[in-house]
Amino acid sequence: MSPSPFEPKQKFRAGVLGATGIVGQRLVERLAAHPWFELTEVAASERSSGKRYAEAVKWHLNESIPAAAAGLVVKGLEPVLDCDFVFSALDSSVAGPAEEDFARAGYPVVSNSKNHRMDSDVPLLIPEVNASHLDAIPLQQKNRGYGSGFIVTNPNCSTAGLVLVLKPLADAFGLEKLFVVTMQAASGAGYPGVPSLDILGNVVPFISGEEEKMETEPQKLLGKWDGSRFVEAGLGISAHCNRVPVENGHLESVSMSLKKVATLAEVREALRDFTVSDELAALPTALKNPIVVLDEENRPQPRRDVNAGNGMAAAVGRIRECPLLDVKLTLLSHNLLRGAAGAALLNAELLAARGLLSRTHVSAEAAAQPQPA
Ligand code: NAP
Repeated sequence: MSPSPFEPKQKFRAGVLGATGIVGQRLVERLAAHPWFELTEVAASERSSGKRYAEAVKWHLNESIPAAAAGLVVKGLEPVLDCDFVFSALDSSVAGPAEEDFARAGYPVVSNSKNHRMDSDVPLLIPEVNASHLDAIPLQQKNRGYGSGFIVTNPNCSTAGLVLVLKPLADAFGLEKLFVVTMQAASGAGYPGVPSLDILGNVVPFISGEEEKMETEPQKLLGKWDGSRFVEAGLGISAHCNRVPVENGHLESVSMSLKKVATLAEVREALRDFTVSDELAALPTALKNPIVVLDEENRPQPRRDVNAGNGMAAAVGRIRECPLLDVKLTLLSHNLLRGAAGAALLNAELLAARGLLSRTHVSAEAAAQPQPA
């Protein structure tokens, strides 16, 4: 008999660092109805701290600010929050030391930022791809002298969709080389991001640091944790990254060579049949089949397909032969959901299901409240 799916007895209390940003808002929105997590703290810069969340934030979503978040007072980055763990959606200029401070103070940190992704003892996690990399956490805690705290990261927004699609192909056929060209949405640059006069009616063929991230992060994600270190996948990758005037959704044109000969039908089948384990399928944000294969010759398209699977699917189409490498295809994923807030939620859910979150941190203020009899 298979074990019954994990269900926490009490909700875990979550804090969001960088809650006023474009990724932070998505986290706040998705936490409002989350079955396992409850938002108890929001934190941001000195520009925002001390204000009510509804006053501090320039809200970008169509749905109103969740009532439970609107009245929270925005805190600063001191690691004294009344929550069991934190999501970090902090600007990378401050995320590095702030995330370390929280981890050192005992908080599990589930980060969207680039700062610790490639650290030798930090899991860079996509649960459907490399859940076993969580085994690095005890060594991280030992190396850094952390108690119950640790840092887990999710990949760059364009890497997230790419590697999800590469995973079943790597497993079935092996991957040798990859050539990828991205068309990345404006929201990928945060708010206010790229000035409107630079992006309207235009394409900007440069995103600082993006090609480097796309050429290195997949090596760690598709590699192995051998018990003491991450062993890279050893893939040849060349990435070209472009910013385009699209609101949400990164489109990517990919050509790849495989280690084993495969027909296009076999490639399509491997993608379409990609099914996650029962452990992952039971997580609230997970999809049983996170890759959607589209047969229309002109799909995926950001406007039509960006919300596939509630923003957590990678939509794939145009699977065809490549005259230079073996196979080419087009993929699309939501940069703020699969590529950021949704990815972080899924990571936190896996941590919860594996017993890596606990109800620990209670502020002095909360501890002074009378307890129910
Ligand atoms: P954003 O809209 O610019 O938001 C940045 C957040 O960081 C805001 O809450 C801001 O607070 C806070 N912040 C900035 N400076 C701070 C300081 N000195 N001290 C404390 N807080 C500070 O950026 P974003 O797009 O949400 O991205 C957040 C993180 O996720 C970044 O590291 C980014 O690289 C990563 N990421 C973004 C995407 C995406 O598609 N946008 C995808 C994946 C990963 P204030 O409002 O108070 O200034």
